[in-house]
Amino acid sequence: MENCLFCKFIQEHNQKVYEDELFYIIKDINPQAPLHYLAIPKTHFKYLTEMQESDIANLGKIFAKIGEISIDTLHLDGGYRLVINQGDNAGQTVPHLHIHILGGKEMGWNPA
Ligand code: AMP
Ligand code: ZN
Repeated sequence: MENCLFCKFIQEHNQKVYEDELFYIIKDINPQAPLHYLAIPKTHFKYLTEMQESDIANLGKIFAKIGEISIDTLHLDGGYRLVINQGDNAGQTVPHLHIHILGGKEMGWNPA
């Protein structure tokens, strides 16, 4: 998708923490926890409701992979939180679905 930051990053980002054929992971530029990554599918869609069948299948694989690499690659010993902001009330600012991966400290439970 033209003019989409996260589509551009597929080609242009040179500090990917992880990448395979389905998605890539980068560090968030404005971290909300000591460790804050973004896992970004390589197909462009904003909402879960826009997923094609292949996106639905791939999202399951992406979650599984995040779990698999959580300690060795992402250093999320002690646990982590996954967040997907959907729409304005959630504060979604980039219209390309992404999974926030937060960790590196014990967190409270306040989504404000
Ligand atoms: P959201 O508000 O859920 O759409 O999340 C978008 C996230 O992208 C925010 O946490 C931003 O800090 C992050 N972000 C925006 N621009 C960049 C960038 N150039 N590199 C890395 N993260 C970014
Ligand atoms: Zn995109």
